[in-house]
Amino acid sequence: MSTIRLSAAEIATKLAAGEVSSVEVTRDHLDRIAAVDGDINAFLALDAEGALDTARDVDARRAAGETLHPLAGVPIAVKDVIATAGIATTAGSRILEGWVPPYDAFVARRIRAAGLPILGKTNMDEFAMGSSTEHSAYGPTRNPWDLDRIPGGSGGGSAAAVGAYEAPLAIGTDTGGSIRQPAAVTGTVGVKPTYGGVSRYGLIALASSLDQAGPVTRTVLDAALLHDLIGGHDPLDSTSIDAPVPPVVEAARRADVSGLRIGIVKQLGGEGYQPGVRTRFDEAVALLSKAGADIVEVSCPSFEYALSTYYLILPAEASSNLAKFDAMRYGLRVHPQGVADPSAEQVMAATREAGFGDEVKRRIIIGTYALSSGYYDAYYGSAQKVRTLIAQDFARAFEQVDVLVSPTSPTTAFPLGSKLDDPMSMYLQDVATIPANLAGVPGLSLPAGVADEDGLPVGIQVLAPAMGDDRLYNVGAALERLLLEQWGAPLLSRAPELAATAEAASSTEGTR
Ligand code: GLN
Repeated sequence: MSTIRLSAAEIATKLAAGEVSSVEVTRDHLDRIAAVDGDINAFLALDAEGALDTARDVDARRAAGETLHPLAGVPIAVKDVIATAGIATTAGSRILEGWVPPYDAFVARRIRAAGLPILGKTNMDEFAMGSSTEHSAYGPTRNPWDLDRIPGGSGGGSAAAVGAYEAPLAIGTDTGGSIRQPAAVTGTVGVKPTYGGVSRYGLIALASSLDQAGPVTRTVLDAALLHDLIGGHDPLDSTSIDAPVPPVVEAARRADVSGLRIGIVKQLGGEGYQPGVRTRFDEAVALLSKAGADIVEVSCPSFEYALSTYYLILPAEASSNLAKFDAMRYGLRVHPQGVADPSAEQVMAATREAGFGDEVKRRIIIGTYALSSGYYDAYYGSAQKVRTLIAQDFARAFEQVDVLVSPTSPTTAFPLGSKLDDPMSMYLQDVATIPANLAGVPGLSLPAGVADEDGLPVGIQVLAPAMGDDRLYNVGAALERLLLEQWGAPLLSRAPELAATAEAASSTEGTR
């Protein structure tokens, strides 16, 4: 029987018991990718050989009686914004087409050291700018629930890969919601750790003060196991927190909300949220209350300005970070047409014109404008002040409650193409996720059911104070269990497209 429907924790148990080998598990997932990724387009690059080499090595070490990491041998997919030595890394951009990093990001190094076969690199909006993966230079990823809908973004590839059973685990990055929103709209679990909790070394930077890598999985426990693996101090990242990883795995196993104070953020979840999203959210909160949590309404007045603040700070930082794509150091180099002996600046301009997509250009222009002398105080300076107010709102809220909850995203997955001409409505997808990035606090998104009006997944978000990541897992796992009792089977088993593709996969399985 194929192992693709098992959670990472279940695969790990079977590997440890010798019931399956890592080579078998890795092959199952590579077969699944071959069967469905033509439709889904979750992967930009595959490393079948590398993954099988790692799997063979882990199997041999296990056979020799070596003590291995609990996730050793469990395959993983990695968002293409993370540098992987020897595997092409494009960040979804033409400007990095064909670039093969000479080194591993901290996260990739941890994954390899623990013996997780890396299946490949996942599709994303160019430089992680977007909420739909439609800004990828390599074509959009499709939502496994409905192939005509977006899988969220920017990490739509990681979420779709996990949601379509192409990988049990994936790594995403979240600057304004790119782990949590894709998780919400695909019915998967996604976690943005505390800022500084996971090293940014080797992440192609979007906005350095906001970026954070984290897990994308199908269960809360799996996310905790992966978080525990990639978290912790790294001297190569000056903003890395020098403290032990919060006890996330223990918390996911505890899963007990009795006596906990849970705050509903007044500013997140009202007007502008799809009715089905609100209904599933209210029901999830009622379940938490029945399980013994104290539900309190909390006000965070400055959250109203979070989106505007983010869309000044992010482009400002991005315009500075993207200056390194100068046609000299990496990837693409375009010679301007009809110029016999072009200057470096002409080559740079022609390369950026051809190599950057529209959304990236838009943000570079906004960012350089916001940082220009004469406007700096009015735009960037004001945004930084509001950022402080948002952090203060969180601080006050966490004096009253242990965690905050809200819908992860105001809507379910929208049809491909429907928001491409309207950047503002695309930006609004992250209205509930952005405050956490601005304040550096951790957040988790968990499937809360499907909306009545369209049958598509809805996510509920849990937020905790900085370095209180374990609280996310405790509450997330408790709610996951309560919902599972209600549904009788995991939410993903209801995805219609998956039912069809799963049959296709199991029929090829017999012929192997
Ligand atoms: N959708 C948001 C944006 O476009 C978030 C991106 C992210 O988290 N990388 O900026």
